[in-house]
Amino acid sequence: RVKDKWAATRPKYPPTSLALQHFDATYSVQLGQLWPSVRVALLSERKYGALLNNFSSDDDVLADLRAKGCSDFINDTDTEAQLGLKQDSESVVQEESKEDAVKKSDVDGQQLSPLKLSPNIKCAVFPRGDITQFKPARPDMYRLLGYYLLDAASVLPCLALNVQEGHYVLDLCAAPGGKALAILQAQAIRFLCVNDTSASRTTRLRQVLHSYVPKEFLNEKNLRITSFDGTKWGEIETNTFDRVLVDVPCTTDRHSLTEDDNNIFNKTRTGERRRLPQVQLELLLAGIQAACPGGEIMYSTCTLSQIQNLRVVEQAIHLAKEKHNITLEVVDLRPLTHMFRKTFHFAPTLHLGEMVIPHLAANFGPIYMCKLRRLT
Ligand code: SAM
Repeated sequence: RVKDKWAATRPKYPPTSLALQHFDATYSVQLGQLWPSVRVALLSERKYGALLNNFSSDDDVLADLRAKGCSDFINDTDTEAQLGLKQDSESVVQEESKEDAVKKSDVDGQQLSPLKLSPNIKCAVFPRGDITQFKPARPDMYRLLGYYLLDAASVLPCLALNVQEGHYVLDLCAAPGGKALAILQAQAIRFLCVNDTSASRTTRLRQVLHSYVPKEFLNEKNLRITSFDGTKWGEIETNTFDRVLVDVPCTTDRHSLTEDDNNIFNKTRTGERRRLPQVQLELLLAGIQAACPGGEIMYSTCTLSQIQNLRVVEQAIHLAKEKHNITLEVVDLRPLTHMFRKTFHFAPTLHLGEMVIPHLAANFGPIYMCKLRRLT
């Protein structure tokens, strides 16, 4: 009899199986009838988007991607709201019509309040149901790459962050840097601070920035790269930033279901996994403190978990008031979901924030996002 060679080394319950058991138990309750289709999408090949690099000197990148069948899901969608969104910062009239257009977006007969988006971000995707993969991006004559591949849904929190000319922006958990790159595409920021507690991931972040952003921008005047524990940010710098992105560590549901390496469901990481909601809460609270009064904070994750999403936001709003006397309002992101409903599947109405849920025909996400505005 041949002994099973793997028996001694292969864990009885690989982390991916433990993750599936955990998700089956929690998401079947949370998502009800939606769970079987979300489950099959999560276990299938994911879909990417190509975030266009406005710093690249190669002007043909988007045209080449279009020739292959892609569209820029942000600017090519021919809806009334989208037309209004075409950016022209010199035209006040255009700005007004943009607001009007987004105002006109109408969900279930309800009038939606206006929502401004960060300008100039472009992201190419293949059509619904098309699972063609992107080729690796090519460098231009200055060695800057033409696009960055990422889950197209992760561009949404960056768009909704509404970065504007002259803003001070903090990306509290920034590595490897996809969202920081998206935010930089606005080419409007006065100062960007990117932070990640992991030194190795901060090195990767640095490499990404050097592959996409010209050297002239990567100086202390415009950019600060740090490796602090973001939960302590409130002790370092408060009331400073116009925009703060808090893209927290989470159970990274798709990764946890498909890769045994670096999997948070590994038995050795149970404590770390259980502490996640507390760390997320502390990071969001620190981000809220780092924003200036009137500033806006975007909380985002790539999990479907209510405990890591809505519950964290609810507690942060409560504790910001209790502990720091900061009053927050939740910004309605329904105009955004309405605008991009043909590209992504969104969860049915959540009472706080919005969520892209995976679907076989548009296999992006999960991405949860909730935007807060500091009133005091
Ligand atoms: N925003 C990144 C992007 O778009 O490429 C992805 C961020 S990832 C979801 C979460 C990051 O949080 C990880 O890189 C992790 O190292 C970092 N992190 C974990 N704990 C942290 C802490 N206490 N302070 C700052 N960063 C932390």
